[in-house]
Amino acid sequence: MRQLLLLIFVFFASQWLFKKLKRAQAAAGAQAGGGAGAARASHGPAASGGAPQLPDPLVRCAECGVHTPSSEAIIAAGHRFCSADHARRHAARPTGRDAR
Ligand SMILES: [Zn+2]
Repeated sequence: MRQLLLLIFVFFASQWLFKKLKRAQAAAGAQAGGGAGAARASHGPAASGGAPQLPDPLVRCAECGVHTPSSEAIIAAGHRFCSADHARRHAARPTGRDAR
């Protein structure tokens, strides 16, 4: 009976060892391929399919109409601009309603 238990233990131990060996081989292969691959292998297969980074929503410049990522846009007087120069130009220009 004790031999059977030992056999089961050896079976599990060998499986664990085999898994560890396989992982080490995969890591070695990734290292041979490149540093980036090795870094990804350390995270495991579950982490490889991460969500892509969301792009910045585009905002329209009130002066020239060019679409700019919101992180780069200049916001002045409630309007969004592609650059500080356009924000200044828009502020300096008199509004259409007053001109008419
Ligand atoms: Zn502009």
